[in-house]
Amino acid sequence: MRPEDILVPTPAGVCCKRGGFHIDPTRPVDRALITHAHSDHARAGHGAVLATQETLDIMRLRYGDSFAGSSQAIGYGEGINLGGAKVTFHPAGHVLGSAQIAVEADGLRVVASGDYKNIPDPTCAPFALVPCDVFITEATFALPVFRHGDPDAEIAKLLHSVTLFPERAHLVGAYSLGKAQRVIALLRKAGYSAPIYLHGAMESITRYYESRGIALGELRLVRGADKASLAGTITICPPSALSDLWTRRFPEPLAAFASGWMRVRARARQQGVSLPLVISDHADWDGLTTTIAATGAREIWVTHGQEDALVHWCTMRGLKARPLDIVGYGDEDESDDQVEGGADE
Ligand SMILES: [Zn+2]
Ligand SMILES: [Zn+2]
Repeated sequence: MRPEDILVPTPAGVCCKRGGFHIDPTRPVDRALITHAHSDHARAGHGAVLATQETLDIMRLRYGDSFAGSSQAIGYGEGINLGGAKVTFHPAGHVLGSAQIAVEADGLRVVASGDYKNIPDPTCAPFALVPCDVFITEATFALPVFRHGDPDAEIAKLLHSVTLFPERAHLVGAYSLGKAQRVIALLRKAGYSAPIYLHGAMESITRYYESRGIALGELRLVRGADKASLAGTITICPPSALSDLWTRRFPEPLAAFASGWMRVRARARQQGVSLPLVISDHADWDGLTTTIAATGAREIWVTHGQEDALVHWCTMRGLKARPLDIVGYGDEDESDDQVEGGADE
């Protein structure tokens, strides 16, 4: 029994032949199992979709009711048999509803983790370690230079800036699914109780988070607010809006951006960000390597991002490792910004 008899990498995503499904396919397929609702993993147009309720709901919000021929929800820890393969979903700690998908057959377990992080996030279930034989990992931040640090310390920087510049409006660029809501929740956790403003593109998903019981405090739409009243406030917007004419409605806007990429100063400068906040929904180098070791997997398949360094690290530790050259997974889900950035604002 080889792992490839359970899951085989194809250019459209990993495929389970006996179960007749793909995981996070990048092209339309008959049956898709989807780890989470970021648009590079969750595409519209599949025949049947199996995912958590939250992932299905967010896909419906974005793509409309006809996002798939049919859909089926599965809870964390629940098992389902597909063509002799046992499939279970487990929390990935990435965004609301995100899951790792475990596929088992003939005593071998392969885990496709999608995107994940192994640190606490007040807006989603914590990452669950699933022991396995083969672990499929992302590699978005798989270089030793990426150590994300403490998100609360980054939020403290933002709040300090708001105190220093009460006449300015602080705009925080954040991806609309997951990061935006996490930044709001972290601000509340830090004791910030003033209303937080939202770009229109953030509204529906943020309201959806609230409907799932995630408390985000008082939120207001920027649309309709008068310019002077926005002094000293915090607004969450898609990163693309930071360089948009849209910013003219704010008094002396100050651009912040919450992303793991903000570790790279040049990138922050390039994007005109004066307050980079290193807050990521992906595991950093330490998170990736400790998770890989903890799964006990002897074989590691690496997707999207800095595959080489992680494959090398695995090989040095005596693990079998290979990159999966699947085209279509984005960096930090930048494609989400394309989906919703600018909407009706
Ligand atoms: Zn993602
Ligand atoms: Zn991804």
